[in-house]
Amino acid sequence: MLGYFSIVGYADVKLYFMKKLKPITAYLASTLLLLTAGFVGNAQTQPLQIKYWLGMSQPSSHLFEVTIEVAVPEDEKLRSLDFQMPKWSPGRYAVFDFAKNVQEVKAREACPAGLDCTTPNLTITRVDDQTWRAELGSFRHAGMSLMFSYKVFANDLSGTFSQLDAHHANLNGGSIFMYLVNHKQDPVALSINVPKSWHIVNARTERKDQSEYQFPNWDIMTDTPTEIGADWTDDEFKVEGKTYHVVVHSLGKEGAKRPALVRDLQKIVRAETAMWGPPEFDSYTFLFHFANDGKSGDGMEHLASTQIIMPGALADKDMLEETIDSAAHEFFHVWNVKRLRPLELGPWDFTRPANTRGLWIAEGITNYYGHLMQRRAALWNDQRLFAALVDQITEVENSAGSKLMSAEESSLSAPFIDDAPHAQQTNLANTSVSYYAKGEALGLVLDLLIRGKTNGKASLDDVMRRMYEEFYLKSPNASYYLRGRGYTAEDFEKVVSQIAGSDMSEFFKRHVRGVEPPPYEEACAQVGLRFLRTPQAPVTIGIVGDDSEEINFKIGSLRPDSPAAAAGLQVGDVITLFGGNRFTPLSYLKVLARYKPGDRVQVNFLRGGRPLTTTVTLGTPQVFNFRIEENPNASTEAKALRVAWLNGR
Ligand SMILES: [Zn+2]
Ligand SMILES: [Zn+2]
Repeated sequence: MLGYFSIVGYADVKLYFMKKLKPITAYLASTLLLLTAGFVGNAQTQPLQIKYWLGMSQPSSHLFEVTIEVAVPEDEKLRSLDFQMPKWSPGRYAVFDFAKNVQEVKAREACPAGLDCTTPNLTITRVDDQTWRAELGSFRHAGMSLMFSYKVFANDLSGTFSQLDAHHANLNGGSIFMYLVNHKQDPVALSINVPKSWHIVNARTERKDQSEYQFPNWDIMTDTPTEIGADWTDDEFKVEGKTYHVVVHSLGKEGAKRPALVRDLQKIVRAETAMWGPPEFDSYTFLFHFANDGKSGDGMEHLASTQIIMPGALADKDMLEETIDSAAHEFFHVWNVKRLRPLELGPWDFTRPANTRGLWIAEGITNYYGHLMQRRAALWNDQRLFAALVDQITEVENSAGSKLMSAEESSLSAPFIDDAPHAQQTNLANTSVSYYAKGEALGLVLDLLIRGKTNGKASLDDVMRRMYEEFYLKSPNASYYLRGRGYTAEDFEKVVSQIAGSDMSEFFKRHVRGVEPPPYEEACAQVGLRFLRTPQAPVTIGIVGDDSEEINFKIGSLRPDSPAAAAGLQVGDVITLFGGNRFTPLSYLKVLARYKPGDRVQVNFLRGGRPLTTTVTLGTPQVFNFRIEENPNASTEAKALRVAWLNGR
């Protein structure tokens, strides 16, 4: 048993791995030197040797078998060890309570290799909804290990959950691996036992058939999504000396498009690297699933990889373009959020959701650049970029929630709005705005305003580079987790003002912490573009029909700030007559077109089958079509700024 227990080094895992293994006691003694005086007498903070064993002996059961082996130090005061399942995992901010899929938790002593011994089970106490306590009792044999084991059910192909079935294992560690309480920072080893003919691949795979991995801590292990199966492919390319793996598991036809996928990814990597400079890693892994089930879709960023799941097959129309769109976003995260990060995003407390005001920067500005980079990589033309930007602006400016929720508040609401399941009905559709779309809109406006203010000498690119340099590369390490330190909302605002060469606090007050729409027209004018908006309809009533109803107009959604709401109408009401005219999913637009704002109209409707009437006072337009187009009369200077923006100069 001792023979297989790999000891993991502190600062340089690889280097340590190459050295001969030290005896456990020597290892523990050497770690003492690295610890602060405060640790003495507190066995809980003394680093432990931790190794994870992952098995999947019955793939069709969807049950991963996890054993956590811990070398327990000889310390009379240490009476128990707590093992905890995180409530959520980084990158998706909803609370999922992964503990709900844990079963058959056990603990025993490890049996030394070569000896025939029967080891007694240790007592396990469930402490709370996410924590199990292994009582060490009489566990005091020098050099022996605790084996804490459990099974975890996993049958979701996603960027957050995991899946084990007869076809493959796809692993996101946060949903599978418990950490030791107070020891999340300790180095860990991982050994994976896979079914015959299955192969393991992740960002740390260095050779074929590798099954042993070393990580500096639990966070990095769970930041390394892993694919295990018989039929994935691995293509490779290099950009500026770095190796990129394109791992694809296709569950549908590829239509011979894989070479095009690899080619276009390379263009994205070049465009984004051109902005940021060379990334920190030696190799990076794009891990794709073409699920071909019409529903599974996700993208998740990691330090040296991304997991992207598309609902269709690569051969499908537009699938290549949609995949590249996801990849352009996720790869930008290599810098923005995975390394340059808001203060609250790492290391994490997994007993409660993360609360940060910075997701509009981490996600929204990433979304902006994900689109812009496709233009800089020459995969999109100008019109395609403008259309993508306008889509996001439309989502923000036409939503009732954007009048109530700021970009910072949206970030703080992430645990509720980032794919969170809701058992109770909520009003979030009317009260929230996406930090992706709002952040993208703010990113665009900030970028163009800075370019205008500085006559093209600076841009949002400079803001992001300065932030990366100051907070990631140059700041002293604030914790065991990664380089540098996280930034605050105020740090970002300060750097924007520095780069813009003028005080931008009013912008942040009104458009980032406030709900006032950012100055789109002014921003677009800086680069010789026009920002146009036209009403979607001449009058507003504020209702949308229920898609599932073809014959009757049943209210599917209703704006709280609309004439319909003021008249007392509600979701589920069926409108029969509008000013005496039949009101149906087919006729309603024609009927509404006969009126103008201010008209008072009698509405007959059914509520729970009961006929009722009310009077609606039609309002001025609340929803618009937006457009960004070239201004043919733009100055030469503005046109030059546009060329620089679109091409990354
Ligand atoms: Zn797979
Ligand atoms: Zn993202």
